[in-house]
Parts: sequence; C-alpha cells; structure tokens
Amino acid sequence: MSWTDLARNGRILVVDDAMENIQILHHALREEHEVLFALDGEQALQIALEQQPDLILLDAVMPGMDGYAVVAALRASPRLQDIPVIFVTALSQPEDETRALDGGAVDFISKPFNVAVVRARVRSQLTIKRQADLMRELSMTDGLTGVANRRNFNDTVDAEWRRCARAGLPLSVIMIDIDHFKLYNDHYGHQAGDACLQQISAAMKRCAARPQDLLARYGGEEFILLLPQEGAEGTEVVANRMLEEVRKLAIPHATSPSAPQVTLSMGLATLLPPSDSTDPSPAIRLADANLYRAKQTGRNRYCISLDN
Ligand code: GH3
Ligand code: MG
Ligand code: MG
Repeated sequence: MSWTDLARNGRILVVDDAMENIQILHHALREEHEVLFALDGEQALQIALEQQPDLILLDAVMPGMDGYAVVAALRASPRLQDIPVIFVTALSQPEDETRALDGGAVDFISKPFNVAVVRARVRSQLTIKRQADLMRELSMTDGLTGVANRRNFNDTVDAEWRRCARAGLPLSVIMIDIDHFKLYNDHYGHQAGDACLQQISAAMKRCAARPQDLLARYGGEEFILLLPQEGAEGTEVVANRMLEEVRKLAIPHATSPSAPQVTLSMGLATLLPPSDSTDPSPAIRLADANLYRAKQTGRNRYCISLDN
C-alpha cells in the first residue's frame, strides 16, 4: 500500500454538539473519507463501538459528557482504545492543548478551523494509525501461511482459558503435525514444501469457522487449533473435517511410507478449566501427548485421550 492509500478512504467519526461544525467538517472530509457523526459523547461511544472508525474528531466542550470524558472512556475500552482522537476546540490556551494530549488525544485543532489544515492533519493521523495497524497485524501473523503465529496463539489461549474457567465451559485444542514432511521436502524441494504448508493451512482454516476459533502455526510443520467453548464431540467433528479436507487436496507424496499423499496426524484435548485456573498448558500437553500417540499408531489419524 502506498503512502497516499494509507492517508485516504478512512472512516472518520466527527463528534460535536453544534450541527454547523459537523457540516463544515463533513464538507471538508467527505471527498477523501467516509464521515460518520455524533452529537454527544454517549452517542459517540455507541457509534464507535458499532462502526469501529479509524479516527475520531472530537469537540472538547459539549453538554453532558465532554470530550475529555469521551477520551477517558475510549482509552478504558479494549475495543476502542486504539482509535486515535484529534481534539477540535475553541479552547486555545496551551493548558487546554496539553490537557487534551495528556488525556490521550493524538492531535489538537483550534476553532475556527482551516479546512486544508484539518484535511492534512486527518491524513497524517490516518497514515500513522494504519501503519500501526499493519505492524500489529504483522506481529501476530505467520509470514508464510497467513495464519496466526505462536505468540498470537499464546496470548489468545491464555485469555480464552480464563474466560472458559469463569464461565464453566470446556476448552479444546487440536495439535496438528504434517506426516513425513521432511521426506516431502527432500523429494519435492523446499519451495514445494512451502506451497504445501500454505495449501494445508488454508484447508484447515476452512474447517473451524466460528469467530473465536484460532488456527496458528506452532512450529515448522506443526499447527495448533484453539476451539474455545467446544466440547469433545465438536472437536472430533472438526478433526474429521480436517482429515477429509486434506485428503481432498490430494497433494502427492511419493516417498511417504504411510500414504501416497500428504496426510496429517492430530492430538485432541478437551478440558474443563478449574474455576480459578490461569494456565492453559495442561490442555497443550495433553494434545501433544495424543499427537505423539497418533504418530506411534500409524499417522493420518487423530487420537483423543490417553485411555481410549
Ligand atoms: P513425522 O511424520 O514424524 O512428523 O515426520 P516429519 O518428517 O514430518 O517430521 P520432522 O520433524 O522430522 O521434520 C519436519 C520437517 O518439516 C523438517 C523440515 O524440512 C520441514 N519444515 C519445517 N518448516 C518448514 C518450512 O517452513 N518450509 C518447508 N518447506 N519445510 C519446513
Ligand atoms: Mg511432521
Ligand atoms: Mg514436527
């Protein structure tokens, strides 16, 4: 994406109790951006939650909840805390400006505003926001396959384990390893191996489609699928679907001792986290032990628990 792409086509929320100001800002920004508006602080928070704007232009002085209170509420909300805010206000003392910036605003524009300056400041904040979004996205994603990376998995499994512990719900994981992948690389070459990893991860991703499910690359040719709030039965359904999807890919593997095409082995684990538990590693250890058994007992299969 080029610099100009990053600076345009944003979703901007304008918050002001004076309709006239909203109209001027709408007029100034509508050619380059999508403009939403709110007439008070409560409405602004509601719209921000629903529409997830890229940037908020916020009036400091409003009846009821003022701009400073809105910024404080945004910063306290996990779903809103990364949305940058530019204060737009008639207050023009240096203390007003520092109060806004100290409170978590990224910039400050004085009224009456110059339309060209507003546009330019919006562009520059939008660029910064999108660069930050891209960086965050990259830091959580595996470069080769585009699925979550291990760090992302670790953070997510911690949070989901706690959530399931509080709610008294099970959490499942499936540890997945490609069979005889070293032999695949040796025979077809490393680039074909990379392409195979991409195809397999895309196929596996199709098998678990709930929003809270997370497929991650755990190591070289090892993946892990997190299924929060899923019981043993549903987990087996997903595992069977993955075996089937990969079978349908029918990627030839001429040197594999276990099948003429690329296959997976999987270890499943479903646990009910104890109510005050914060450490999900028992689930991962159990899935790992079951994966080992799946390898030992012939590959191209899944194993569920140590006593079946
Ligand atoms: P098993 O059935 O027991 O799992 O045998 P395996 O050969 O799959 O397991 P092993 O752990 O011995 O080898 C894994 C191989 O995966 C080693 C390496 O060549 C390959 N591999 C790991 N990461 C990548 C990658 O990013 N790209 C490619 N092309 N190959 C990779
Ligand atoms: Mg392997
Ligand atoms: Mg392996």
